[in-house]
Amino acid sequence: MGTDFRSDTVTRPTQAMRDAMMAAAVGDDVYGEDPSVNQLEAVAAQMLGKEAGLFVPSGTMANQVAILTHTERGDEVFIHQDSHAYYYEGGAAAMWSGITWNLLDGPEGTPSPETLRKSIRPKNIHHPTPRLLSLENTHNRAGGAAISLERLIPLIDEARSYGLGVHLDGARLFNAAVALGIAASDLAQPFDSVSICLSKGLGAPVGSVLIGSKPFIDRARVFRKWLGGGMRQAGIIAAAGLYALANNIQRLEEDHIRARHMAHALSEMGYQVMLPTVPTNMVMLDLPVPATEAIDQLAHEQVLVGAMGPQRLRLVTHLDIDDEGVSHALNVFRAFAERIHA
Ligand SMILES: *Cc1c(COP(=O)(O)O)cnc(C)c1O
Repeated sequence: MGTDFRSDTVTRPTQAMRDAMMAAAVGDDVYGEDPSVNQLEAVAAQMLGKEAGLFVPSGTMANQVAILTHTERGDEVFIHQDSHAYYYEGGAAAMWSGITWNLLDGPEGTPSPETLRKSIRPKNIHHPTPRLLSLENTHNRAGGAAISLERLIPLIDEARSYGLGVHLDGARLFNAAVALGIAASDLAQPFDSVSICLSKGLGAPVGSVLIGSKPFIDRARVFRKWLGGGMRQAGIIAAAGLYALANNIQRLEEDHIRARHMAHALSEMGYQVMLPTVPTNMVMLDLPVPATEAIDQLAHEQVLVGAMGPQRLRLVTHLDIDDEGVSHALNVFRAFAERIHA
C-alpha cells in the first residue's frame, strides 16, 4: 500500500477513535437531538472563541454554506486566486450563492491591504456590491504556509473599513496555530466565520465545522439543509471529531517536524524546495521533469505523492506517516534525483 504523502486526508481512524465512535450517544440531528453533534459544535465553537458551530460533511460544504450565509446573489467576494474556495470547489459559489469573485494576488495566498484597496470600486450602479473577504490559513497552494496575525490584521482592518464580512477557510487552522505557537482562538478572533476540517491532520474520517456568532450559525443551518447536509444520527461521526479535537492537535507538531526534516533533506539532494515563511505539514518541490512522471516512478517504490502543478509535487505529513516512512521516502527520492540529474 505504501507510504501515502498525497494528503493528510488519507488517515484512517485509530482503534481508540473507532471505540469513541462505537460508544457515541446519538439522536436525530435535524431535530437538534444528537448529543454528540451538539457537543462537537459547542466544543469547536468554544475552542475558537465564538458562540456557535455547525457540523457539516465536508470543508467544501462549510465554505459554501459560509458564502451563502454572508452574501446575496450578485454580491462581490474578494479572494486570493490560489484559495481553495475559488480554485478547488468547482465554481460552486457561483452556482449556490450566485456571487461574483474578485480575484486578488499576493505572496503566500494572502493579498496585501493595498491590493484589496485597489480592487474596491466606488459605489455605483455599474458595480456589484462588495460583501465578503475570504482568507485561508494554513494556505494549501502556498505550500501549507501558516499566516501570522501580524499579516492578517491590517488586511482585515482594510476589509472592515469597506463594511466587508470576513471568512476564514481554516481547514488546517490548528496546523497554523501549532506552527505559530498561538491559540486557535487568537487566530480565529478577527473573523466573522471560520471553517475547520476534522478529516485532515486531525485524523477523523469525515466532517468539518463552520463556526461563528449564534445568529450567523442559525442562518447557516438553513443553508446546510438546502444543500442536503442535514444528517440524522450523525453523532457516530461527530464522536470521531470530538476525539480528534481532544487528542490530535498537539501532535501536529510531529508532522511539522517530519515535513521540515524532509524539506531539508530533499533540498540537500538538489531538489528545488519551496519553503514558506512559517511551514507546517507540507513540502512542495519543483522538478525539471513532468510531475506525472515522478508520481509514477515514485509509486513503483511505494511512495505516493501528489501534483500541485505540471512540474510541482506536494508531500503532506500526517498521523499515518512515521519516521520509517519518511526515511523510506527519502531513499526513494535520493535514487530518483540521481536518475533525473544524470
Ligand atoms: C481540503 C480543503 C477544503 C475542503 O475540504 P473537503 O472536506 O475536502 O471538502 C477547504 N479548504 C482547504 C484549504 C482545504 O485544504
